Parts: sequence; C-alpha cells; structure tokens
Amino acid sequence: MKYTLDVGLGDRSYPIFIEDGIMATVGADLAKRKIAKRFAVIADDNVARLYGSTLMRSLSEAGIAAELLTFPQGEASKNLQVFAGLASRLAQLGIDRKDGLIALGGGVTGDLTGFLAASYLRGLPFVQVPTTLLSQVDSSVGGKTGVDLPEGKNLVGAFYQPEVVYIDTAVLTTLPLGELIGGLAEVIKYGVIRDFDFFVFLERHLDQILCLEQASIQQMIFTCCRIKAEVVAEDERESDIRRILNFGHTIGHAVEAASDYSIIHGMAVAIGMVAALRLAVACELCKKSDAGRVAALINAYGLPTEIPADLDRQRIKKYLLTDKKTVAGSVFYVLPTTIGKVLITNEVSEAQLESVLQKR
Ligand code: NAD
Repeated sequence: MKYTLDVGLGDRSYPIFIEDGIMATVGADLAKRKIAKRFAVIADDNVARLYGSTLMRSLSEAGIAAELLTFPQGEASKNLQVFAGLASRLAQLGIDRKDGLIALGGGVTGDLTGFLAASYLRGLPFVQVPTTLLSQVDSSVGGKTGVDLPEGKNLVGAFYQPEVVYIDTAVLTTLPLGELIGGLAEVIKYGVIRDFDFFVFLERHLDQILCLEQASIQQMIFTCCRIKAEVVAEDERESDIRRILNFGHTIGHAVEAASDYSIIHGMAVAIGMVAALRLAVACELCKKSDAGRVAALINAYGLPTEIPADLDRQRIKKYLLTDKKTVAGSVFYVLPTTIGKVLITNEVSEAQLESVLQKR
C-alpha cells in the first residue's frame, strides 16, 4: 500500500509520498527529480545511528553525492548555536546553490534544517524525511521552519516549503511509545477540526493503530497530511484558516510552559483539546456529549485529559496572555461547534475560562 498527495501552493507545490520502507528508494526518486547535484543530510545523533546508513546507501546507489551532518538529539538543540555550527559545516563542505539539504528526523531536525535551507546562501532546496509520528502528520508539511530562543519557542524562523516529503511508516516501530502517543494527540486534532469521518475511523481502528498495523497507520497519516495540505493551501501564512490547526494548542502551550516543560507537547495538546471543548460547552457552542466523546477517544489512546491538580492556575493564565498568538491582549481560542467543525473566537469571559481551569 502506498499513498501520494500534493500540497497545492502554485509554483511551490510539492508531493508527499507515504509508504512502508520508502527510505530505501529516496535516492532513486531524487535522482529523477534533479533537485540538487549533492545533498547534506542533517539528522540528530540518535536518528543518524538508526537510519543514517539506509538513507545514505539509497543516495549513493542512485549516484547522488551526500554528506551526513549530525547534532545532539532533543529540543535543546533547536537553537541558534546549533544552527550556526551546521551552517559553518555547510560552508566548510563547500555546499553551494546547486546543492540541497535533507532533513532526516523528527520535528526538531525538520525545523532546524528547513530554517538552514531558507537562509543558507539565501535559500537552498530541501527535502523532508520525517521519522516521528508528530513530524509525519504535522511538522514536515506546511513550511514552518525555525529555532527557539531562550525567551521562547520558535521565535526565529521562516515560512519555507520543501521540494518533496518522503514518509516511511516503517520507522515508527523504533519510536519510543511516549513519542508515538504524543503524536496521536495531533492526529485526533485533525478529526475534531475538520473531519468527522476520520474521527470515527480513529474510534474504530484504535487497536490497529496502537499495534502499528500498516494499512491503518498509512491511511491515518495520509488523512492527516491531506487535511494539513488543504488548510495550508488555503492559508499558507496563518492569517486566517490555518489558525484552526492551533486547536488544543492555546491552552496546551500554556499548560506546557506552566509545567516548565515537564509535560511533553503531545500530552499538553491533549489536555488543551479537552479544555477547549469544555470552553466550547461553557460558551454554549458545542454539545456536552460531543465534548465527552472526544475526551473518551483522547483517553482511549492513552493521553491525559485533565490539567494536573498541582499546576498553578495563575501561571497558566499568565502564559495564555503572553502567548505569541495573542493579539492586543486578546486570546483567540479554536473552539469546536461539533466534531469536525470549529470556529475561532476571543469572546470568552473570565468566568468561562475559570470554569475550565478549575481543579477537578
Ligand atoms: P524530535 O525531533 O526531538 O524527536 C523526538 C525524539 O525521537 C528524538 O530524541 C529523536 O532522536 C527520536 N526519534 C526520531 N525518530 C525516531 C525513530 N523513528 N525511532 C526512534 N527514535 C526516533 O521531536 P518531535 O516530537 O518530532 O518534534 C518536536 C518539534 O517539532 C518541536 O520543536 C516543535 O516546535 C516542532 N513542530 C513544528 C511544527 C511545524 O509546523 N514546523 C509543527 C509541530 C511541531
């Protein structure tokens, strides 16, 4: 089974290929596309150890010259120091405008490599080979790239689209369970914001998905990429509809920050989605039964639904107001009206927010 789809952005459109084992054929496909004469493959040290040789072999067998550049795994590497180190390595290797970059890894590698591609020599072509569930269903598609600053996440970056995305579903078998479950929060998000049938698919295929059964996993990843591609094609720079992808992230980011990042992103998004649904119920936008049904699915996939009782509610509120997506002191929430449809509103009273943040 394999899936293909296109992200429709005019002359910056690009294909996404989803297939079990596609990593071994990336070289042959890139040779046909003539994107670059030579590639720098960028991976964290962990992914380089697991998959570096498969990808490098595939490139060399196709007659494509390539160098593998690595950096230490983890979010702490998504910064300007690691960026500068990699840029210097590109210069030392004599990487020029006819060359390209390949991001092999999770969202950290994709964001870092994409930003390098956007800025090194004022722009090189780049390719995404995402290896975490989060990067396969979210960060490798849509062209948001960047790095963190000590002052906050993703504060420096660029919109810069890849030339092609290769999603190898076989690599999910080595992903730690926590990373897989965390990625499933983003998967559930797509059903709630845009596709009731997909939500039902996730309810019905729970066992197959958790066992990484290939047919279900590929269909699931394809549907997420299709929805993200549709939304990005409508609003590449997040001035309007793309903001629906932030469902669960507004309160989720505040929970993540208030926990000093001890709650990992996917778990915080799950908590944030349930909070947003409760807010929608409090605002009389959504039925309580719909909110309960989504919370039940989130719970069934092993994700949390409640803000931990010991987390300081005032800190969560402080982070909500300083979120970089807050406009003129007004927090915009993505709230479901039913499963599969959302609206964006700032008409949320203090009392409605309090009712959602209260300890349960
Ligand atoms: P990550 O890239 O740090 O990967 C998580 C861990 O999994 C790492 O330790 C990595 O070495 C390991 N790993 C990766 N693939 C593996 C595999 N197949 N087998 C075993 N281990 C593997 O983190 P992530 O969760 O993929 O991405 C998080 C980042 O993505 C954040 O920085 C976030 O800001 C960013 N993000 C970007 C966008 C976007 O649109 N650009 C969207 C969402 C998130």
